Amino acid sequence: MSFKDLELIEPIQRALDAEGYTSPTPIQQQAIPFILQGKDVLGCAQTGTGKTAAFSIPILQLLYKQKEVRKGIQVLILTPTRELAIQIDESIAAYGKFTRSTHTVIFGGVTQLRQTTALKKGVEILVATPGRLLDLMNQGFIDLRNLSVFVLDEADRMLDMGFINDVKKIIAKLPAKRQTLFFSATMPTEIQSLADSLLHKPAKIEV
Ligand code: AMP
Repeated sequence: MSFKDLELIEPIQRALDAEGYTSPTPIQQQAIPFILQGKDVLGCAQTGTGKTAAFSIPILQLLYKQKEVRKGIQVLILTPTRELAIQIDESIAAYGKFTRSTHTVIFGGVTQLRQTTALKKGVEILVATPGRLLDLMNQGFIDLRNLSVFVLDEADRMLDMGFINDVKKIIAKLPAKRQTLFFSATMPTEIQSLADSLLHKPAKIEV
């Protein structure tokens, strides 16, 4: 299978060509069509499988094709570590370099001024780690009223790292009407029940 079979828009296809990607990985082949259809997805996949592109590419395409102009954060991607957050943001910059979606990344352990300055300018896609996101939400820097897509990345690591309560607090503040994409390498009971509570008729993908 080639990316051509996935009916991607030209500016994204061009960015993938520039990255030197020729064919989609198995998770990309399976997830991209469902996400483009607006479906919820439950993906069992490790890092290294091409998971980031599997959700980033269709999200960029959905934003590009959307008809009405929406204000504020439309996509939230929650991930457990600063390193993953930075990688995801860089991937979005690469795949989206011709679609011009605005994006930024926030994480803890650094002063917040640069992050709040970026947020004030307005972004469509926010990549975040849970602690810093909650902190900035509590300070009133984050408006999630127009959110349409929520991605929970590495859900099992959120649990292992003790972030699950922060994650649940964040989820409680998201609009109910949204598309949710849930990724986890393993499915312990607590993660399965979180997935069950968040996802509406999800497409299930295992790689
Ligand atoms: P991830 O699993 O998202 O961390 O991606 C693992 C690595 O695979 C990253 O360095 C990506 O740049 C690369 N990658 C993702 N999708 C593809 C693809 N379709 N073709 C070639 N490389 C890819």
